[in-house]
Amino acid sequence: MTRVVIAGAGFAGLASALFLARRGHSVTLIERDAAPPDGTPADDLADWAHPGAPQARQSHALLGRARRVLVDEAPDVVAALLSRGVREIPVVVGAGFLDGERMLLSRRLVAEAELRRIVARESGVRLLAGEAVIGLQVSRAEDVPVVTGAQLLSGAVVVADLVVDASGRRSGLSDWFARARLESPVDERQDCGFFYLTRYYRVRPGCETPVSKIPASTSLDYATVFALGADNDTFSLTVTLSVNDPYRKALRDPAVFEAFLQAVPHSAPWIRAGEPISDISMMSRIENRRRRLTTGTGPIVGGIVAVGDAALHTNPTLGRGISMGLLHAQHLAEVAHLATDDPVGFAERFSNWTDEHLGIWYDTQVAADANALERLAAGLLRTRVAAAADASARFATAAFLCAQHDEVVGIAVAKIVHLFASPREAFADPRVVSRVTEFLSSGVSLERPIDVPSRAAFELLASRSGSTPAPIVGLGSASARYDD
Ligand SMILES: Cc1cc2nc3c(=O)[nH]c(=O)nc-3n(C[C@H](O)[C@H](O)[C@H](O)COP(=O)(O)OP(=O)(O)OC[C@H]3O[C@@H](n4cnc5c(N)ncnc54)[C@H](O)[C@@H]3O)c2cc1C
Repeated sequence: MTRVVIAGAGFAGLASALFLARRGHSVTLIERDAAPPDGTPADDLADWAHPGAPQARQSHALLGRARRVLVDEAPDVVAALLSRGVREIPVVVGAGFLDGERMLLSRRLVAEAELRRIVARESGVRLLAGEAVIGLQVSRAEDVPVVTGAQLLSGAVVVADLVVDASGRRSGLSDWFARARLESPVDERQDCGFFYLTRYYRVRPGCETPVSKIPASTSLDYATVFALGADNDTFSLTVTLSVNDPYRKALRDPAVFEAFLQAVPHSAPWIRAGEPISDISMMSRIENRRRRLTTGTGPIVGGIVAVGDAALHTNPTLGRGISMGLLHAQHLAEVAHLATDDPVGFAERFSNWTDEHLGIWYDTQVAADANALERLAAGLLRTRVAAAADASARFATAAFLCAQHDEVVGIAVAKIVHLFASPREAFADPRVVSRVTEFLSSGVSLERPIDVPSRAAFELLASRSGSTPAPIVGLGSASARYDD
């Protein structure tokens, strides 16, 4: 049995605690935010502040791989989510259907609250809410230091064989390392240069809920629009805009937000079917970040690992974060019995596993986001970037288009989108290669369709809000004005 302390009870921390406890480990789970209220799913949203997860009121779905991990590790969680009104839908991308797999549609707080209630009842987990990890207890008896416990805000120290940082994208691990006089973790960052605006709706009586499709978004040159079903006849609509967009404030006006979504063909049926049940929530400071607790010469310290967003997170456009966090939690639970005897080797092997199995999703997102930044910068100036010219990017774009009508390619793309296979694995199938190659050689255009509404129409609509357009600054960079 390994004694584990986990900092953070978001999806990755909760799942880690549950999966570890069910393998006989002893878990102390520390969470700074109070427990969700007991009540209806609506109370989860209205009365649970949860500031520690700033994305909590943004649109979320659990892709097929996230549900698969839950089914394999804790099927009772899936059953409890369904009884709370969470919806299961087939895993479909275009003409591709993954037999036996489903995905989960829920407002994030509804799903997270239910998971947290289950974990709080789990024997083997001690959940300390309203408490926070603020530092580490470190032994320097060996060449490489080893973490032996976590220091809490209350002044207590929880002794552990393994400390797990699951404290999310705003993790304070760098400060914990600095305070313990450890070398800094090795961070890679990429600012994404856009921000999110999300509003929740309930389906009007007599209206049908439109069908949720994954990917849930459509990209315009100057914006991205998402429409995603959720639990209990609710759904979310989301817009992302460049942080440099001079009209970035206009869409905070509900009338402009709705008029814009009515003008976008992807979201128009949703707007017509729903009535708003929330304010418009904004989230900025979106970045891709990978943090390694190892340098070229090995682990900085043993006895500690990071999971979920604390280890690596990406711009959430493709909705991969919870799947990655649950995969991380599952691996942690599978290997945690090895942490006690060799804390330094364990930290190194865990880091290698993370690079090998989750790094691919980070790397592909970073590459895609460089293009997205370029697209948005051009879109503000009413110009467009040409479709990708290099062979692998052309192949990937063509595969996504081909997936709309070709079942074999559709299944390959569905496996990528739902994190069942990496692009390399899914595109290794010779049948996929030949069908996509044939599709490409048919002369199909890889350009995105012309924007509806056009940038000019968007500006006209946005200027109705009465907010003065701000100057464009730092085009092509993500430097500017996140919270402005
Ligand atoms: C706009 C947006 C939309 C997204 N949409 C999707 C989606 O559709 N599908 C999807 O799979 N993913 C989505 N994600 C990503 C998803 O939110 C994260 O990947 C996921 O929540 C990561 O879980 P986590 O447990 O690592 O971190 P979090 O869920 O952020 O949880 C971290 C927890 O740690 C706590 N904490 C922080 N510091 C401390 C401390 N020092 N001590 C104790 N507790 C602490 C916080 O209060 C919080 O509860 C989205 C993200 C964003 C930003």
